[in-house]
Amino acid sequence: MTRYEPADSFATPRFSDVRTFMRLPHNRDLENANVAIVGAPFDTGATFRAGARFGPEGIRSASHLLRRHNSGLGVTIFDHVSAIDYGDVPVVPGYIESSYEWIEEGLRPIYEADVVPIVLGGDHSIALPELRAAAKRHGPLALVQFDSHPDTWDSYFGEKHTHGTPFRRAVEEGLLDVERSIQVGMRGSIYDERDWDDAKEMGFELLTTDDVRKLGIEATTRRIHERVGEAKTYVSFDIDFVDPAFAPGTGTPEVGGFSSWESQQFARSLAGLHIVGFDVVEVYPAYDLAQITALLAANIAHDFLSLVALARKRGGISGK
Ligand code: MN
Ligand code: MN
Repeated sequence: MTRYEPADSFATPRFSDVRTFMRLPHNRDLENANVAIVGAPFDTGATFRAGARFGPEGIRSASHLLRRHNSGLGVTIFDHVSAIDYGDVPVVPGYIESSYEWIEEGLRPIYEADVVPIVLGGDHSIALPELRAAAKRHGPLALVQFDSHPDTWDSYFGEKHTHGTPFRRAVEEGLLDVERSIQVGMRGSIYDERDWDDAKEMGFELLTTDDVRKLGIEATTRRIHERVGEAKTYVSFDIDFVDPAFAPGTGTPEVGGFSSWESQQFARSLAGLHIVGFDVVEVYPAYDLAQITALLAANIAHDFLSLVALARKRGGISGK
């Protein structure tokens, strides 16, 4: 098996070449890959600011600084995985249901090849076609969602598909093992005092930012692992989980959030879970400053890539 890994930044400078994720080769050789980085440049689901269509480009650009050893997880990534930058799935700007079909269809061969996708969004509406593609291969999945919003509202402007509604739709469509799913980080002003209770009534465990602050990182991590157990899991990381001081370039920022370091701890805390797919969503480069948000998103994706490497290093079950 060919092992795909980033270009050597001791041989050529990291500002060289076309901006693939981490300087990985851009190809669609799923036979020889364990992980595929996939862009989903779609932002028609946004209800406030727009611009997540440039998220994949922004994250890829910032990712050229990332190196092959993850010191936080203690794993040299490419000793254990072969990874490719798959490019982007097709989308139709302005047409959400057509885009959902294209995104699902675009991810299907990746799941069929037992390759783990790390999807770079895109607004959070893309979670629905991602979960459709993942569930088609794996059945209903546990969800670990880091987000300041549960995204379980019923509709916006009379429409069922937006970035505020994908997880209600996913439950309705039977894509989630909701009893094993957990949403972490909710905070800020809401429309109705029952908004978070709605998510709980749908079956989700929901930890607000206040809950997490009281529990601390370690106890929160234990709650996540207890909830998910051995279930096959989808991890969705909305960058607005992070405080806008650390992630200003996003669509619906909520103050009072987590730092970059804390966000990395949460991402790394998922080691040991059976994760079949990841995303990092809601990066809006036009609202970013000095690549702060894109750089953090690239680092979270790097941690996710490292989790797959770690599972393989330990003889785990992530991917083929
Ligand atoms: Mn979200
Ligand atoms: Mn959000």
